[in-house]
Amino acid sequence: MGTIEHWIGGSVTAGVSSRRAPVYQPATGQVAHEVVLAGAADVDAAVSAARVAFEGWGQESLSRRTKVLFAFRELVSRNAEKIGKIVSNEHGKVLSDAAGEVQRGLEVIEFACGIPQLLKGSYSDQASAGVDVFGFREPLGVVAGITPFNFPAMVPMWMHPIAIACGNTFVLKPSERDPSVSNFVASLWREAGLPDGVFNVVHGDHDAVDAILKHPGIAAVSFVGSTPIARYIYFEGVKSGKRVQALGGAKNHAVVLPDADPDFVAEHLVASAFGSAGERCMAVSAAVLVGAGDRLVEEVASRAAEVRVGPGDDPASEMGPVITAAARDRIENLISVGERQGARVAADGRNLKIPGYEEGFFTGPTVLDGVTPEMDVYREEIFGPVLSVVRAGDVDEAIALINSNPYGNGTAVFTSSGAAARRFQRGVRVGMIGVNVPIPVPMAYYSFGGWKDSLFGQSHIYGPDGVDFYTRGKVVTQRWPSTGASDASLHFPTAR
Ligand code: NAD
Repeated sequence: MGTIEHWIGGSVTAGVSSRRAPVYQPATGQVAHEVVLAGAADVDAAVSAARVAFEGWGQESLSRRTKVLFAFRELVSRNAEKIGKIVSNEHGKVLSDAAGEVQRGLEVIEFACGIPQLLKGSYSDQASAGVDVFGFREPLGVVAGITPFNFPAMVPMWMHPIAIACGNTFVLKPSERDPSVSNFVASLWREAGLPDGVFNVVHGDHDAVDAILKHPGIAAVSFVGSTPIARYIYFEGVKSGKRVQALGGAKNHAVVLPDADPDFVAEHLVASAFGSAGERCMAVSAAVLVGAGDRLVEEVASRAAEVRVGPGDDPASEMGPVITAAARDRIENLISVGERQGARVAADGRNLKIPGYEEGFFTGPTVLDGVTPEMDVYREEIFGPVLSVVRAGDVDEAIALINSNPYGNGTAVFTSSGAAARRFQRGVRVGMIGVNVPIPVPMAYYSFGGWKDSLFGQSHIYGPDGVDFYTRGKVVTQRWPSTGASDASLHFPTAR
């Protein structure tokens, strides 16, 4: 059993805090490693390294930064399989799913490779007689990222490639549940030619997070995780003068209209509710059926029961375990509460035992029918392989249901009517919408973000919003006086 240590200033270090946490292999339920948990002194060491590195990196040419970005892109691409294996081992997701996560992270790196174009700025010739005006953006300095367990490679890649391309230096505090991949990514940055101290990894829990929030040397914090912590991070970060974007949890509804193709819907509901064991912030956790839909529920339930659940490294597995025993117990308890509150268990994933992996954190796909908005299974973010089926009389009732939910991350509509889809996309107060696309994660050249309790702060993450978030603007008004009459005057300057 190894110890996963911090990566500060280009080298691995145990730091000064003696706190440690176990890191499990969810498929076997065994402790695979332990991880160091930083205190304020360790965070300070990382920020100091990042501050020193910013003096050089913040002044590097776009050309040099881009070369490092392209080299990093090649290394991540070449090591995609290895990254996927590290993720699968500590997170539990199946290898094909981990490969998808690496691919979506890679696309953000590719976007960041275009940084010279993205930072081109603006120029107004002859804004006034003999006066030109131009605007450009500069990096912020040391910025931090705090990330969740469910996408240990991709979510940090929503942040650091863009932050670093913009000229900042970065301190990553990944989830303590699956920390290994961040150190491997750090080694790839170094191999790509990134100077020491530009990318640092500090492992830890709430102590490290609080130290980041309080540290005066950190200019901005990007957070992705659950809503209560996102709210806390946003308000604490802003209070200490930082720029903050904090993406939170979700309850994503997929509305099924009567004109949708039932086979297509059944297949996609199963994939989007149970892929990655439902541990995706864009997973569909509530299907809203407009019209009767009883046959659709039975079809989804029978397909759910056929999902092949097993360890992530078995190519036959379609769905792996959940992250911890506590997560599994909470999920199964919520299903039982739902049953007691009147939901019908159409497919039951509780008490699943996988031969050879009896100690693993497995729970199978569950479908609950007859769910109503008052039930706990509807109100809570379950973050497990549970699909709740809710009924609505028409599309407007479905839209009203979505809009009365505190979350507003993603939503989808299944229909063959363009008019209904348009009414839906204009009516819902949600940040990311799919039309016959159940997991509408925007491409890297758009930005990702929800509304309401799914995001605190103004900026969405990655894409053009990411570039804005990690830079601040300057505008220069300039003239080169030549001979002629001076136009100096005591009145407020206006253009001529
Ligand atoms: P989490 O909120 O428990 O943890 C996220 C980060 O916060 C981790 O780095 C963790 O160490 C830290 N943290 C945990 N408790 C803390 C505390 N009390 N004080 C300070 N920091 C603390 O989330 P998780 O369980 O790792 O991830 C799942 C959650 O993340 C779900 O709610 C999911 O919807 C959400 N998520 C959202 C998005 C999005 O883009 N909106 C993406 C992925 C995951």
